[in-house]
Amino acid sequence: MTASKKIDVFISKEAIDKRVKELAEMINRDYQNQEIIIVCVLNGSFIFCADLVRYITVPVQIEMVSLSSYEGTESSGEVSFRLDVKQSLVGKNIILVEDIVDTGLTISFLLKHMKLKNLASLKLCSLLLKRARLKIEVPVDYLGFDIEDKFVIGYGLDFDGHYRELPYIGVYGA
Ligand code: 5GP
Repeated sequence: MTASKKIDVFISKEAIDKRVKELAEMINRDYQNQEIIIVCVLNGSFIFCADLVRYITVPVQIEMVSLSSYEGTESSGEVSFRLDVKQSLVGKNIILVEDIVDTGLTISFLLKHMKLKNLASLKLCSLLLKRARLKIEVPVDYLGFDIEDKFVIGYGLDFDGHYRELPYIGVYGA
């Protein structure tokens, strides 16, 4: 039963709020007088993305993509689209917003897909990165926290669909 496991706070709500604001400030500085499209990588990024865009002061549109790549606590390495952006992204400044880069396989698939679209620019913003787990080099332009190899939940991140609602990032099963 998931409910009986202990959850330790790994990154507090306050630390997340502070860092999300800092990331938005970096984006606002980098895109002065330009429009951006934030592409939220569902499902895990929905809370991070919602908080981030509320600190964005440059003109912004928000789109969603959904990829399937992960089951339980181990990455399958196989990626496919469940939902793609419908509008044309040609000539647009795109920032992909991801919850966590683990092996890097999911986001690499998406970056490769986006690069075919004749964008004005493409950047990646990820709240978390498990650098030690990377199987492929991933350029994270805006990174929240570089974390050790732990399975984390909360603030949008789930374990089998649960715990996304937690306001902090926790470590499951500690
Ligand atoms: P990657 O393809 O980089 O291995 O995996 C990326 C996806 O795996 C993330 O978007 C996320 O959905 C899931 N994932 C990777 N590590 C964790 C983790 O520690 N906790 C949770 N809840 N999901 C993870």
